[in-house]
Amino acid sequence: MEYIVINFAGDVLLAQAVKDYLTSQKVVSTIYMVPETDELSISFEENNKRNGMKITKEILRNYLETHNLSRYQIIQLENILTVGIPKRIEEISNLLMCEICGWRINTEEELLVHRRIHWI
Ligand SMILES: [Zn+2]
Repeated sequence: MEYIVINFAGDVLLAQAVKDYLTSQKVVSTIYMVPETDELSISFEENNKRNGMKITKEILRNYLETHNLSRYQIIQLENILTVGIPKRIEEISNLLMCEICGWRINTEEELLVHRRIHWI
């Protein structure tokens, strides 16, 4: 696994905050974020590469816990982690669904943006 993508389901501020948090953890070797987007790409030093996904999920869980973001969930699809609040069942019926991973999305536009994560 060369790198891990973390998508924040449209939450640009959370993406930025987690980027700063990951940077402070000093286990991630590179963090890349396209400015003003909700997506980070990270990679690990050689000696942490094998456990990179596990480490990343632990850091994310720690972050969410310490910031009382308990409604957020982390969903993994291969090397992509999506961090977001799952929709309630009654809201879901109105939503569009990503046919690749099942992620629920409000608008056609968001769905197009989301689908990009599967094409990397
Ligand atoms: Zn998807």
